[in-house]
Amino acid sequence: MVNCPATDYVLNKSMRILLAEDERKVAEHVRAGLAAEGYAVDVAHDGDEAIWLAESNTYDALLLDIGMPHKDGITVVRLLRRKQILAPVIFLTARDDIEDKVRGLDAGADDYLTKPFSIAELLARLRAVLRRQRPQTTNVIRVADLELDLLSHEAKRGEEKIELTPREFSLLEFLINASPKPVSKTSIIEHVWDQHFDSETNVVNVYIKLLRRKIDLPSRPPLIHTVRGVGFALREEEPA
Ligand code: CA
Repeated sequence: MVNCPATDYVLNKSMRILLAEDERKVAEHVRAGLAAEGYAVDVAHDGDEAIWLAESNTYDALLLDIGMPHKDGITVVRLLRRKQILAPVIFLTARDDIEDKVRGLDAGADDYLTKPFSIAELLARLRAVLRRQRPQTTNVIRVADLELDLLSHEAKRGEEKIELTPREFSLLEFLINASPKPVSKTSIIEHVWDQHFDSETNVVNVYIKLLRRKIDLPSRPPLIHTVRGVGFALREEEPA
């Protein structure tokens, strides 16, 4: 599944997208769909306008129609790539034409969508190219031999797969992101549970216990440590 909520947080929603599409109705439909997701969208209605906007602004991704007045989408990408404008490009093409797609990808595009497409599919493809663009927001996070794949929601210790509930997964993700620093129970509650959750409860201890049973098998060095007076830390060695 491309549409995975766990990866959304790694993408800064205040991303700026250039949409070049000469059919005004289609342009407005796509623009509205992107705006509803929190993207900032500039719209160009021909190839020259697209180039001008792409040169004057910094975009996180470009969505380019292939058949446009003045310059087609493929020419636009070639020119932009030559000018070292390397934002990911998704082509929007009316023709389900393999040759067009190959030419587009060869010109430097990252993906293409054949019209008519759904906004949901466009958003998923867009997230995918944005993720690929940002290696620091990798899908896999790890500490020692413990690995979480934020896209597939798989957890592994070494080669051993670990089955986690969604809540356990979120808690582990939070601990890994903080690692090697310890996190307090309060911050765990705030980040992993609803922040209005009654923080007097013992729920964090319960979940840490559940996680330990799955992560810290007797055969392996423990990773989840209790840091007295602070909370919990996920790291390789015992805290001093
Ligand atoms: Ca067109």
